[in-house]
Parts: sequence; C-alpha cells; structure tokens
Amino acid sequence: MRYRNWGRTVAFSPAFYAQPSDEEAIRRLIGQAVEQRRTLRVVGAGHSWTPLIETPDFLLSLDRLQGIISLSPTAHTVTVWAGSRLYRLLPQLWETGFSLRNQGDIDRQSVAGAFSTGTHGTGKGFGILATQVVHYRFIDGRGRLQDVYPTESPDLFRALQVSLGLLGVITQVTLSVEPRYYLRLLTRVEPLEAVLEKSAEYLQQYRHFEFFWFPYSDWAGVKLTELSPVEARRSLGGRWIRDFLWENAAFWVLNKLAQYFPNRCPELCQFAGRNMGEGVWIDRAYRVFATARLVRFREMEYSVPAEAGPEVLREIRRWIERHQPAVSFPIEYRYVKGDEIPLSPAYGGDRVFIAVHMYHRMPHTEYFRGLEAIFQAYEGRPHWGKMHTATWSYLERVYPRLGEFFALRQQYDPEGVFLNSYLRQLFGEGLQHRVAESVS
Ligand SMILES: Cc1cc2nc3c(=O)[nH]c(=O)nc-3n(C[C@H](O)[C@H](O)[C@H](O)COP(=O)(O)OP(=O)(O)OC[C@H]3O[C@@H](n4cnc5c(N)ncnc54)[C@H](O)[C@@H]3O)c2cc1C
Repeated sequence: MRYRNWGRTVAFSPAFYAQPSDEEAIRRLIGQAVEQRRTLRVVGAGHSWTPLIETPDFLLSLDRLQGIISLSPTAHTVTVWAGSRLYRLLPQLWETGFSLRNQGDIDRQSVAGAFSTGTHGTGKGFGILATQVVHYRFIDGRGRLQDVYPTESPDLFRALQVSLGLLGVITQVTLSVEPRYYLRLLTRVEPLEAVLEKSAEYLQQYRHFEFFWFPYSDWAGVKLTELSPVEARRSLGGRWIRDFLWENAAFWVLNKLAQYFPNRCPELCQFAGRNMGEGVWIDRAYRVFATARLVRFREMEYSVPAEAGPEVLREIRRWIERHQPAVSFPIEYRYVKGDEIPLSPAYGGDRVFIAVHMYHRMPHTEYFRGLEAIFQAYEGRPHWGKMHTATWSYLERVYPRLGEFFALRQQYDPEGVFLNSYLRQLFGEGLQHRVAESVS
C-alpha cells in the first residue's frame, strides 16, 4: 500500500500495514518488528506535515480501536481507545453528557496522534490538549503493557504526554472531561495593531482568543469565544455559509488566483483581510471549536514566550513588507498556558503560538525559512507535527529537558524499534549521546 499524509508532504510504502483490533495483536506486531530488526511506526489520521509516521517496515493504524471504553460521571473522566477520531468521539461524549475542556482548530485527528505532537488550542487558562489526560495505557518496545498515572510515575507520564510515538504504542487514554457546555463565538475584523494592544484584555475577558492576520493587510479576523448559557439555536444554513462557502470555497478561489498571479498576492490578501467573516455563532462546544479545512496547505508553527508574541508578529510583518513573498494564507496567533511536559512547546511558561501557512501548490521554502529565522531568534520551539528545519543543537537549547526524555526513552525502546530515519536524523546527536553515556 502507498500512504500519503493530509498535507502531501509525506508518501511512502510500508512493507507491512496492520490495523490490529486488540492490544495483544499490537504486542505481537511489536515483537515481530524487534525480532526482524525492523522499525514500527503508528499513524493516527496522518495530519502531521513532518515525516513522523514514515517507515519502510511496519505501519500500524489504530482505526479499529476507537470509541469510549468507560466513563466515570462522578470523577468526570472518560477512557477511550487511542485510535478514536475526535470528530466521531466528541458527539458520542456529548450524548453521555460531557465535553472536552478544550480543542484545536480541527477535529479530524486521532486522540493519540493529536496529543502525541503537542496539539493545542488557544486561551489563557488552557494548556496543550495532552494536559487533559489523566492516564495512559501503552505497549513499549519490550512488549510490556503498562498503565501510567501521574501520581505513580510522573516522569514517564509527562514523557508520554508528548512522545511522538517514541516510547511505544498508546492504546488507551483517560481524559478529564467537563459537563457538556455551549460556546458563543464572536468573529469580527479589527485593525491588527489594535488587536495586539488589546490581546491581554481579550485573553482575560474571553475563554478563548485568537486571530488570523492576512499578510500585507492592516486587518485581523478576531475570534472571541465564551461559555453560553443559552442552548444553541442551530442555523445549519449559517454554518454552511461560514464553513463551506466562505472559509473554503471563496478561499480556494483566492488561492488559485494567487497561484496563477503570484505578484498580485498583496492585493488579494488586502481584499481577504478586509472581508473576513463576521458574526455570532452559538452551538455545542465541540462544533464551535472545530473548523472544516478543505483547502490543502503547508504549515510551520513555533511557540515563543508569551510576552514576545506581539513583537514577533510585528517583526514578521516587517519581513513580509521587505521581501514581498507570494503568500495568500493568513497567519494564526494563539495563546497556550505553560506546562511541565519535557517535549511540549509550552514547557516552562505561557507561550504564544504563531502559525504560518502556504497553499500547497505554491512554493513555501523561502517564506518559511525567512520566518523561521525570526522565530528562532526568539528561542521559539517548533510544533513537532508541522514543518520546521530545527536541528538537534538548536532543539537541545530550547527544550531544556530533551536529554532527560531520551535517557528515559532508552528504558522503553532499547532496540530503537520506534525510530525511523527522520527521527534518527532529527534527534541523532541526542540518541548517540545517550548510547555513549550508557557505554562509558
Ligand atoms: C488542517 C490541519 C489543522 C490542524 N490544526 C491544528 C491545531 O489547531 N492545533 C495544533 O496544535 N495542531 C494542529 N494540526 C496539527 C495536528 O493536530 C498534529 O500534527 C497531530 O499530531 C495530527 O494528529 P494525527 O491523528 O493525524 O496523527 P499523525 O500525524 O498520524 O501522527 C502524529 C504522531 O503521533 C504518533 N501516534 C499516533 N498514534 C499513536 C499511538 N496510538 N501511540 C503512539 N504514538 C502515536 C505518530 O507516530 C506520530 O508520531 C493541524 C493539522 C492539520 C492538517
């Protein structure tokens, strides 16, 4: 079989593709991979741009392990199969009376796939999505099935929260959930500078705050979300207009124009910036969080220390004005609460996440490289699932506990069964360092 990811940045043909339907089958497959000295990677929904899932050997999908396993209405926790796709799981959860505390921008990912790369949403009070996990069950490279709780094994638990599949195959996840709730989303267009100046106020005032800024334009499309006591009066027509007609169909036309007339990108962006959708929408939380993304694109995202966010965006703006890149996608600005997870881009303090995108049929390299230099000048940390060119020596500097993660990893994957060539190259020095330490 030939596997392609959503972003069309990864394509490969694994020798074995398996969709195990129980944990014992996963254990056997890991055993076979170790015995044959082959690599084994797990794929979720294939929504990462980096080649995390690529392998010439064993590719595992947990698509047959989906859904709710058990629910504790008193403890407000739900245990789910790790392969569950969010868009199927969240309506099921709603029917049981619960919702996730926070979500990202889309709901196509699998639970383990999304959480393992540090996927995040936005809001002053909300960490990356994996901060909602209270228990993991996983099978390591020695074939051991383990239940991991933060109180009993805090280091292993935190390592699992963002693990890139490097510790083993996660089979079950227990999430802390909230009684189901409605959200009210207000979208409006405001001058970019005014939004940057008001961002602290917005973060304080609203449960979730983010904005999109079209390069070359003076305008930002702001999304302000708060709890709604009012039950949704669903307007399917309104949702269709927002999701399909504006966010996707009109946006696709805009990107086609940019592709064929790249020197007109400034005018196209100015037009799009002024005409971003405005309105109010109340609905079930999981529906308000998620957007349909039908126009394919490439993305790079870095987190920077929260206080540097506005300055980084202003510097990006100056770079764009100087270099005039052909780009027709907006830049997204979000806020995430700090955590203690070694591989989390929000480790050690609150961060602003800035994501830059490029239509998939337009060249992205120079644009991303130019902006990556700005992110790195502010000690930015790359989102593991999104495109970046950071190397070990840089990563080691900005992720202070990277070494610890790799030391721990040795215990769970001594044969390196979960390492593909991309990960060996990315973390090569770290891996060699660990081997050298254990030899001496
Ligand atoms: C259109 C689009 C919108 C996005 N929006 C956001 C957003 O709002 N916020 C954000 O932070 N990110 C966002 N992302 C990035 C995306 O959330 C991450 O790349 C995420 O990891 C993808 O989840 P997935 O299920 O497709 O996992 P995959 O990409 O398939 O896998 C990701 C990693 O998880 C590992 N993995 C998967 N399953 C398991 C398992 N059972 N056990 C162990 N390891 C496992 C894989 O081996 C791999 O290393 C977006 C991506 C796209 C394409």
